Amino acid sequence: MGTRMSTDNLTAEARRENAAMLAAALGIDLESAGEALQFGVAITFDPADTTAAAIADDLAALLGRTVGGVTFGIAEADTVLEVLVGKVDANTRLPSLLVYVGSGGAVIGGRPAQEPCAGIPRVLCLLVACYAAAATMQAVFGARLPFEAAFPQRISFDQLGIDPGAFVGPVALGDVYLAGAGAIGNGFLWAARHLNFTGTLHIVDDDVVSPGNLNRQIWFAKDDIGLSKAERLSSLAQNEFPGLKLTPRTHRLQDLPEKSDGPWLRRLLVAVDSRRARRKIQMEFPGEVFDASTTDIREIVVHYHRQPTQGACLSCIYEADQEEFTREHHIAEHLGVSVEDVRSERINPSAADRIAAHVRGIEASALVGIAYDTLFKQLCGEGALRTLEGRRVVAPFAFVSVLAGTLLAIEILRRVGVGRNSVDFNYWRVSPWHCVLERRRIFRPPQVGCEFCGNTVLRSVNAALWGALSPPRTE
Ligand SMILES: [Zn+2]
Repeated sequence: MGTRMSTDNLTAEARRENAAMLAAALGIDLESAGEALQFGVAITFDPADTTAAAIADDLAALLGRTVGGVTFGIAEADTVLEVLVGKVDANTRLPSLLVYVGSGGAVIGGRPAQEPCAGIPRVLCLLVACYAAAATMQAVFGARLPFEAAFPQRISFDQLGIDPGAFVGPVALGDVYLAGAGAIGNGFLWAARHLNFTGTLHIVDDDVVSPGNLNRQIWFAKDDIGLSKAERLSSLAQNEFPGLKLTPRTHRLQDLPEKSDGPWLRRLLVAVDSRRARRKIQMEFPGEVFDASTTDIREIVVHYHRQPTQGACLSCIYEADQEEFTREHHIAEHLGVSVEDVRSERINPSAADRIAAHVRGIEASALVGIAYDTLFKQLCGEGALRTLEGRRVVAPFAFVSVLAGTLLAIEILRRVGVGRNSVDFNYWRVSPWHCVLERRRIFRPPQVGCEFCGNTVLRSVNAALWGALSPPRTE
């Protein structure tokens, strides 16, 4: 106790990503938001309480990517809040936030604990830490955040719908693909190391780590900047996965050499970063899909389907919406390229020349291969595209992405693991700000006019690959 966690992972670019997120949430300017995040949090726990120690560790890692500083057991000049995990006395006279875990669930913002925390599966400690990080932001920013903060918050573990037996023992995944080694892909492996998955996981991402990723891509540090995300994530995480072989694949999913006209993509985890990218992945005809996404810091969506399905596909869930349409047109207009260019997601050499001619102070050669959203965010942050301040593409805080990754890992446990788990839904909306886990799980039917499953040709190809549903009985 009495140590300061390093926040060395926060590059200037990563801090700016956090500031942009807070600025959007609070409706303030970037500079004020950056300053508002420069506060410290002290975390106090009893090291003999293993649940409390695990939550404290995870909470420190998450907040260390978000705020000015995190200390264990001591306050520094910038510390504004002490988080007490489990049965422990406060070390400071600062306002405090209490986190406690009983056998049935966790309470955040409740009264002082009377006994040590209950033993729970390690992955649930991480789940509690994600909510505790959100509660920390609520405790500091209060009503300024556009989310109702009613303490105490209770996380009831049985609301997950997972048999306690599922957390124990191996879960055979077989040969499985993870599309996306960004924030959610990182969060997924951060959580999955506490479960016993076996098989081979192909980590598919053709991008490299950039300085602005370090606020939320929790495995990566400054040394990883410029290196392949797939390679670094595999290499950093492999030691924690004795039964699961992590194989880096520095490609786009659609460019993998094993891609064939047959049913090659049997099981797929989707952790890419845009709605459009998810629709493109549906066009690869995956057999079984585990998907998690974030809508800035407001919401997480978990989606599952296995073909042949009577329910929604990725293209149903992530259909093109007005916000996407508006954003793509604005990006195109302000960068001096066509909307088709923006929809191709990455900047090609010809578009790079046109952007360099249109936006002052940009070198075309530095643009090739960069995602349009990324460039757009950088220009917004630098004030070059002031007219679009309110519409910028913002990246969520670390605890939101890690919560999404944790729910993705839990979803695999639910569907592939043992036990009597609730599986009667294909769509689950989760708020990082309210610990209500059960209520928003529903079965979503296909979307009328879906570009994938509403297309007769694609539907017949899909049926040829994965079998057709028996037609509805007519009597
Ligand atoms: Zn569909």
